[in-house]
Amino acid sequence: MTDKYCVIGNPIAHSKSPEIHPVYARQTGQELVYERCLAPLDGFAATVKQLVADGYRGANVTLPFKIEAAQVCTRLEERAKAAGAVNTLVFANGEIIGDNTDGPGLVADITRNAGRAIKDKRVLLLGAGGAARGALLPIIGQGPREIVIANRTVATAEALARDFAKYGVPISATGFDGIEGSFDIVVNGTSSSLAGDLPPVPASVFGPDTLALDMMYGNQPTVFMEFAVSHGATVRDGLGMLIEQAAEAFAIWRGVRPDTADVFRKMRP
Ligand code: NDP
Repeated sequence: MTDKYCVIGNPIAHSKSPEIHPVYARQTGQELVYERCLAPLDGFAATVKQLVADGYRGANVTLPFKIEAAQVCTRLEERAKAAGAVNTLVFANGEIIGDNTDGPGLVADITRNAGRAIKDKRVLLLGAGGAARGALLPIIGQGPREIVIANRTVATAEALARDFAKYGVPISATGFDGIEGSFDIVVNGTSSSLAGDLPPVPASVFGPDTLALDMMYGNQPTVFMEFAVSHGATVRDGLGMLIEQAAEAFAIWRGVRPDTADVFRKMRP
């Protein structure tokens, strides 16, 4: 029987994951199907149970279920625990194992695709929601010199900084008006781009050597990307993060890491 996977969300029609995984499967010679799965807003756990009963081998999880997904797992990998959220499920031997590949996807996009080292660099993370939390441990794993988390609600950023202080990298929290100096890497992990808004970040954070990455992606540059580029930064959107998190999930399921260049060419010719 062909191995079955899917992406669970609500809504789900917009998800690009079913375009990505078949490319990885062809490239690596793996036989599998990957579908969209719409779960009722109050029926995530029941949907997962049904997928297991139907013989699925795993699933990705997207909005709004990433936090709830951590609760249905029988075991969580370290990075899912740190993120407090799950985007990849493995169904094996009666277990539901939860992992989070969003942060590793972001780091892979910065280090491999953009060719920027994070080690010894100053990193500014805008936002303190689920995506920002998921990004922190993988960024810390690269050994940055310093991480500053800036968020509209400062208390949320402070809580994040506290949770991740134990890993030994200098990490601080601030509101947007307290950001000081320029940064090597600026990641917009707020959802402000969804509404076409610019987080009120000072232009002084950008310089000619800054990489500014917006986790959001679309056909047009976001206002954050336009602002950053107008102040000298090199910019990227979140498509690379999406493609890389999918490659990481594929590697967890199939034991082989696909080359993401084929998917980049397909999705952004
Ligand atoms: P959450 O809802 O968990 O967090 C939202 C964050 O954005 C909070 O820190 C919130 O601040 C902040 N925020 C919202 N509106 C504004 C605004 N107008 N100005 C300033 N800050 C604002 O969202 P997620 O963390 O799940 O997602 C964040 C972004 O990351 C989304 O755009 C999402 O699409 C993208 N994403 C991309 C992925 C990819 O693969 N490329 C994967 C996952 C996410 P406050 O605490 O004050 O409310």
